[in-house]
Amino acid sequence: MNELLNSIRMRAERDGKHISGSERLIGDDQLIDVALELVQRALRHPRGQARQIKLRVDPVLPASLQTGKLPDLYNYRVGSWQQGRRLATSLLTDCGVSAAAADKAMAALANGAAPGGKSMRGAMLVDADSGERLEADPARGVRASRMDLSASARAELRARLALFQLDNPHVVEALTLAAKVISAPGMVAELCWSDDPDYLAGYVASARSGYQRINLLKPQGEQRGGRAFFVRCERQALDVLVDWLQRQPLLIDRIGEIHPPQLWSESP
Ligand code: AMP
Repeated sequence: MNELLNSIRMRAERDGKHISGSERLIGDDQLIDVALELVQRALRHPRGQARQIKLRVDPVLPASLQTGKLPDLYNYRVGSWQQGRRLATSLLTDCGVSAAAADKAMAALANGAAPGGKSMRGAMLVDADSGERLEADPARGVRASRMDLSASARAELRARLALFQLDNPHVVEALTLAAKVISAPGMVAELCWSDDPDYLAGYVASARSGYQRINLLKPQGEQRGGRAFFVRCERQALDVLVDWLQRQPLLIDRIGEIHPPQLWSESP
């Protein structure tokens, strides 16, 4: 990769409510198109039209760029969001998160993890054993940033996702984000469901188990959603982890397997 890249980040809100955010790594030739796309997204978001939009572009030092691979995608189908949350809890404990930490994080996301029961702008940082919240700012949380797919990885991914009717921006962006999150030092697992009222799917991801999509994790119309990053590390290592998530540029140039959907049936 010889092309010079830029980090472009968008954050949009309305009356203090988080509406939308996005982060990409792109060449100079894409800056205008992507800037327009991100502003349009903020102005036409299902969570409401943004009133304040921040757009920031920073050059990426070529020597600082790392490359990576997407996790394999598993696609679980459940019959209800309640069942989906039970599956998510079980996948989290399989990844090494304690049942208490999984329960606490799920309850926080369900009730709105930011003060006042709102959605956060970023993710909660959750101690994978105690379930204690570790992020410095409970409204902002931690935003993973400076990651993207290479053009060829994006094209290949979209073609493979299309075979399973999964080629949509939610899945493409979430896989890219999860790839960065689960490669962070000290990360145990990630849990996500969207704050978009019309998008009901979510996932549990970890380096060991890949990206495990669940078709239903919340009821239709629910605006509360978010992410929990479950970590296991010392205080000092936590600062390194947060800095890596926020600042390390990572270009994903290889994709993983896309597995066909499978029905999840609960053992009685
Ligand atoms: P979305 O998947 O875009 O619907 O985002 C759902 C929620 O995940 C947001 O409200 C944030 O709380 C969180 N989130 C979105 N993007 C990021 C990110 N880059 N890093 C950390 N958390 C994020």
